[in-house]
Amino acid sequence: MTERYDIVVIGAGPAGYTAAIRAAQLGMQVACVDDWRSAAGDPVLGGTCLNAGCIPSKALLETSELFILARDHGAARGLKFKDLSFDLDAMMAQKHKVVSELTRGIATLFKAHGVTWIQGRGKLLPKNNIEIAGGQPPLEAEHVILASGSTPVSLKSAPFDGARIVDSQAALEFKEVPHRLGVIGAGVIGLELGSVWRRLGAAVVLLEAQETFLPMADEQVAREALKQFTAQGLDIRLGARVLESQTENGTVAVRYQDKSGERAEIVDRLIVAVGRRPNTDGLFTEAARLLLDEWGFVHVDEYCHTNLPEVYAIGDLVRGPMLAHKGMEEGVMVAERIAGRETAVNYDVVPSVIYTQPEIAWVGKTEQALKSAGVAYRAGVFPFAANGRAKAMGATAGFIKVLADANTDRVLGVHLIGPSCSEIVAAATLAMSFGASAEDIMATMFAHPTLSEALHEAALAVDGRAIHLAQPRRAKP
Ligand code: FAD
Ligand code: NAD
Repeated sequence: MTERYDIVVIGAGPAGYTAAIRAAQLGMQVACVDDWRSAAGDPVLGGTCLNAGCIPSKALLETSELFILARDHGAARGLKFKDLSFDLDAMMAQKHKVVSELTRGIATLFKAHGVTWIQGRGKLLPKNNIEIAGGQPPLEAEHVILASGSTPVSLKSAPFDGARIVDSQAALEFKEVPHRLGVIGAGVIGLELGSVWRRLGAAVVLLEAQETFLPMADEQVAREALKQFTAQGLDIRLGARVLESQTENGTVAVRYQDKSGERAEIVDRLIVAVGRRPNTDGLFTEAARLLLDEWGFVHVDEYCHTNLPEVYAIGDLVRGPMLAHKGMEEGVMVAERIAGRETAVNYDVVPSVIYTQPEIAWVGKTEQALKSAGVAYRAGVFPFAANGRAKAMGATAGFIKVLADANTDRVLGVHLIGPSCSEIVAAATLAMSFGASAEDIMATMFAHPTLSEALHEAALAVDGRAIHLAQPRRAKP
């Protein structure tokens, strides 16, 4: 017998579960179908983000950074640790606990909001019918929201073998610290997971195909990041094209080519982190006639509507940055639009964060993008070295840069590298969401002593008015 719902969501990652909860809040009958299983084989909610992405990676980043703080920075503050060491099993157990509490939390939220959780694999058929694998009853929905997320891209030159050549999920579960770790791709995952294992003692080599490091970030930030990461011992090799990887005797021999010719690296683990692709495999039948774009994402308009009536798609499955918060906002938008509201997502102010140390964050346009678009702008930069709180923390690397339109003073971009930038970027995002000018940030009072004051000072620096910076005063245009 077919079960009927107002909305069926396929996928319970951050995009799907948010859409399901918001739709239920708005009074709709909602089912959410998801096929994720924990390592123990139990159905769990939360998708990539909670089970194999944002959350477990941040647990390991936090713990490994605590270890570095104690080991390398404790003595200067009079903290003495005798025989400081770590227990990798306990570290993993803490990560597992965080993940399982959060995934169970989503189940509680589903229950509280009356969302029906269907454990299995869903497939979209014509006319908003959904088949559930494994002989479960099919579903019919007035509206369908596709939120099946993404999976790691694999390389022919380094195929995953689940043991030595692995994806990011397996790299969050290593049972021992590799002596020598190779990472293909110096993008967000490569840098975050490379940092975790470097802090725990691995020699880490990152092979990045592009000549430019972090091309999506502001160039000044990328330069500072490369300097800091190199000093931490991350061996980042740019312009490196992997030709072949061979596993033998518990090691992986990676052959690659760069400007200097053909080179080789022997590592005992190789993480392939060269991007993710939308998870459309088996998501719909041909007869459903769902349109994909040229890159394989489900084609949607600005409101996440697909080419099919009352079928929407959100999150990593569709264009735009593959970020949990972007998917969550799309989930809210779609649920609210189905309920008749005119909600939209402001794609101009999606914050990005790389949770390394120092942290990297940005929102809006980079300086190079403004230059190439011929936009007249003014820049204000403030270094953490001149921020009292950063000094007290012993975390003075990095800076904040505010870019404002030279004519209107509207903030066009904010770029951060330094301590807690993942948190500070929220203030910049809030300001930009309300169309703030640099002057608006200048006129805002920031608590002292906080790291956020560096944002205030960077805005002041746009007008040559930073208090804790020796710089010539600039006239307003
Ligand atoms: P997903 O989270 O991928 O969820 C999709 C769900 O749908 C999964 O449970 C999947 O099993 C299920 N599914 C797929 N097909 C079907 C089907 N046919 N039927 C039923 N269920 C199906 N982003 C950030 O913003 N911040 C971070 O710090 C961050 N860190 C990350 C770290 C790592 C190591 C990785 C890999 C990713 C990270 N991301 C981060 C990216 C983030 O995880 C994704 O952007 C986010 O999870 C996408 O959410 P989603 O809901 O679109 O898809
Ligand atoms: P990415 O796009 O950030 O980085 C992939 C890197 O691999 C790029 O620098 C690319 O040039 C390089 N590359 C591609 N092919 C290569 C090849 N053949 N050889 C060598 N290098 C190659 O992708 P990712 O790091 O895999 O992360 C996937 C997605 O997950 C990203 O879109 C990211 O937004 C998301 N994510 C976000 C966070 C966060 O928000 N902090 C953390 C992890 C992942």
